[in-house]
Amino acid sequence: MKAILVRQFGGPEVLKLEEIPTPDPAAGQVLVKIHAAGVNPADTYARTGNYAVLPPLPYTPGTDGAGVVESVGDGVKKVKAGDRVYVAKSLSGTYAEHALALESQVHRLPENISFCQGAGVFIPYGTAYHAIHHQAKAHGGETVLVHGASGGVGIAAVQMARAMGLTVFGTASTEKGRGLVKREGAHRTFDHSQPGCKEEIMKATGGRGVDIILEMLANVNLGADLKLLAQMGRVIVIGSRGDVTITPRDLMARRASVRAFTLWAISEAEAADIHASIIAGLENGTLRPVVGSELPLPNAAQAHIEVMKPAGAFGKIVLIP
Ligand code: NAP
Repeated sequence: MKAILVRQFGGPEVLKLEEIPTPDPAAGQVLVKIHAAGVNPADTYARTGNYAVLPPLPYTPGTDGAGVVESVGDGVKKVKAGDRVYVAKSLSGTYAEHALALESQVHRLPENISFCQGAGVFIPYGTAYHAIHHQAKAHGGETVLVHGASGGVGIAAVQMARAMGLTVFGTASTEKGRGLVKREGAHRTFDHSQPGCKEEIMKATGGRGVDIILEMLANVNLGADLKLLAQMGRVIVIGSRGDVTITPRDLMARRASVRAFTLWAISEAEAADIHASIIAGLENGTLRPVVGSELPLPNAAQAHIEVMKPAGAFGKIVLIP
């Protein structure tokens, strides 16, 4: 099969298309024919070799993907050949024509969700769900600021929070991005590239502040975020790419908190909650993954450059084998 292989850590140019043997599923494993693979910022961090979780070289990147089960190993009961699935982590990587996964890593993809959309399910929606439910413990009637709403995680969070009855504020740096965020459910949108953005957000709450901030770029925003919080407010750090200074008294004055997580560390019980809830939301139309661009698999390097562009996110970037 054709697969992207990384033989040494480095820039996007280390992503090379190669011909490698198609794996055979052993007991408890599933072979999925990948129709689309999701590109996530974390794929680029791992590729550079400077990340907390690194695969042994050589490896095929990709955590997210969607396709059809081709064959299953002994004892697999959850899926059978021909089933449509999305992949949430795998043994062999999803930037390939096939991915080998554990039975527990494949999940039913509802009929109304395309393979390209399915490639944008696990990391974006799993992260948004974990942040909103398990970390923020959000309630209907609260106000959430999705700080960085135009990308994969942000769009997922906007759709979820709106469906739960929160007042949703979302930010994006382009008009196109803000249009998407509004269309997907935000009550108000703001431009995080503008100097007056924080004041506008505070004004939109009538000076009360927001209850929850889902933060995609904490190294830039965390200090200012704390000043935007209402009493008992919480910031959930989802993304960060460096260091930041905060004023602890901003937390003290509001009895506020900052929480953070990586999706890699969720418990089995949290994962079960996440997948059951996501599948229900996909089926009933509450969750609608937005695919911004589709690139052929050999263009993986271009996809890595695009996903790290500092502005202009528009849903998901997916690779088509
Ligand atoms: P993405 O699709 O590339 O989207 C990035 C988002 O960040 C866009 O909405 C972008 O908006 C926004 N952004 C850019 N500059 C910003 C600023 N100054 N302030 C606020 N937002 C800004 O990425 P993603 O998949 O949604 O992931 C978002 C972040 O979360 C990444 O850093 C990723 O590594 C991280 N993440 C963490 C976990 C975890 O387990 N903790 C899981 C998934 C993702 P514009 O392009 O419109 O400017």
